[in-house]
Amino acid sequence: MKSSQELKLKGIPISPGILIAPVRVIRKEKIKIKEKILKSEREIEEEIQKFHTGVEELKRILLDLKKETQEENLKVLLDIQITILSDEEMQRDIITFIRNKRKNVESAIQHVLNSRKEALLKQGSSYFAERAGELERLASDLISVINKSYTIADFNFDGIIVIESLSIDEALRIIRSNVKGVITEKGGRTEHSAIVLRNFKIPAVFGIEKITKLLEDDDIVILDGGKGVVIINPMESTLKRYQLIKIDYEKYESELVSERELPPITTDGKVIGLFANIDVPEEVEELLKTGKYGIGLFRTEMIFKEYGDNEEAQYEIYLEIARKVYPNSVTIRAFDIGGDKLYTDYQEDNPFLGLRGIRVLLDEPTLFEKQIRAVIRANELSNVRFMLPMVATVEEVVEAKKIFIQAKKVLEREYMKVNQPRFGIMVEIPSAVLLLEHIAEIIDFISIGTNDLTQYTLAVDRKNQRVSKIFDHLNPAVLKLIKIATDVCREKNILVASCGEITSDPYGVVALVGLGVDELSCPPSRIPEVKSLIRRINLQEAENIASNVVKLQNSKEVKKVIKEYIKKIMPELLEFYD
Ligand code: PEP
Ligand code: MG
Repeated sequence: MKSSQELKLKGIPISPGILIAPVRVIRKEKIKIKEKILKSEREIEEEIQKFHTGVEELKRILLDLKKETQEENLKVLLDIQITILSDEEMQRDIITFIRNKRKNVESAIQHVLNSRKEALLKQGSSYFAERAGELERLASDLISVINKSYTIADFNFDGIIVIESLSIDEALRIIRSNVKGVITEKGGRTEHSAIVLRNFKIPAVFGIEKITKLLEDDDIVILDGGKGVVIINPMESTLKRYQLIKIDYEKYESELVSERELPPITTDGKVIGLFANIDVPEEVEELLKTGKYGIGLFRTEMIFKEYGDNEEAQYEIYLEIARKVYPNSVTIRAFDIGGDKLYTDYQEDNPFLGLRGIRVLLDEPTLFEKQIRAVIRANELSNVRFMLPMVATVEEVVEAKKIFIQAKKVLEREYMKVNQPRFGIMVEIPSAVLLLEHIAEIIDFISIGTNDLTQYTLAVDRKNQRVSKIFDHLNPAVLKLIKIATDVCREKNILVASCGEITSDPYGVVALVGLGVDELSCPPSRIPEVKSLIRRINLQEAENIASNVVKLQNSKEVKKVIKEYIKKIMPELLEFYD
């Protein structure tokens, strides 16, 4: 700790929960990989030595992790990684690359493991595709160990990780470890790593400037993820106060669970469909522990990252999920690659305004067709829906629907019978709202994605914490667009869902119900709270509130009105959120 003063810092609330725990500070600036040309034989031998030492060190870490973990799945994964690491041929290839190309060990690892990954992906089965994913993780762990930067052991810390920014890979590593919470300097509420933490109930606060400089390993901090507060160097009295708040929060959570078997229905009888957003298939198990729910948004970008366009791998994954959630449905969103989910080779100045989502898919029809085929084939139980991301124009939907119908016809020729999934779009660009009356003619449903709708309406980068004050899904401009969309859907008689992060914000839930949204899809961990809230909302009252708030000037005024209502129907909730 650099100062002994208690310091209360306010950041962006990412994932609720109270923690009082030690921190581990991960300093990322050390891990930038640079290609280096080796000038002498001595340098070459040094790089080879670094490689051997790194392999031994990583093996030791993996074996330790295996001993510590209770998770059978993780044990299997660790075994696979240890086997790959011990593969003599792979080791020989890396050493040969260092010698022949005279390049540093990091470049050699990347090159050799990447080409093996590509070869595995070409084999075309989900087994090989999974192994390819393991190779990629292993390469980054090995490089981290060799660089003496952070290691996967750091991510197995039984406390709070403090890090400049959190990538999606790091978030996935965290959910597979003992880490209790996360604090970052950068990042926003709708960033994908934030979404993963929320889904897995890891309390987190993002956007606390210079936090990695203010803390040292093992300092005790208080993290309040619901309010976005971090207290460093807490006084004895503050610690005592938060211990009590923590107990209250746990009690509040267990009371929510008591409504587990009850339906999400308003006090005046409208059933609001309640679904989960998932980013990785592992989340389905977590979801089913919460209750029997369907999936309102399956983001498939991680599938693309691990398996590429492999149809069989996708089919197996989609089918397994559809079977697991049956009789509820799963809405599979086509790959939304590009933008911040950039698993492509495109280099663009403005990726959020560039080749992303449906634009990529129409640009690469083979990739799109393979995903469509996998989705249609997985609809054995008729509980699969398919949805397009980033729709901006009517033509995009017309063209995508043509490809979809054509793929179905081809499948019908190959297979005896297929069930056509319901076909919908994400509404997340203002133009899609304004053109919805035309698009509605050829779709079955929409899902309003407020993360991007907010980003594109207010021209505010969803990842950039420097403009995070402007990023607010409760801005009346965003709410007005939602109202236009729900009005069109009602008129055209199509289902309207919402799946942005607004669905886990209690203020957002009241607004959405009042605006006429039929289904909400939120992170699995947030379902109990959202359901409790829905069960206390009166539709008529929420409709009145919604028609008032769309006329207001800013989100502060919107929040004030909705807060009064929540105070009336669920006051305990306000103890844990601002
Ligand atoms: C959204 O934009 O609101 C959404 C749900 O999609 P994503 O967060 O994956 O962009
Ligand atoms: Mg989106």
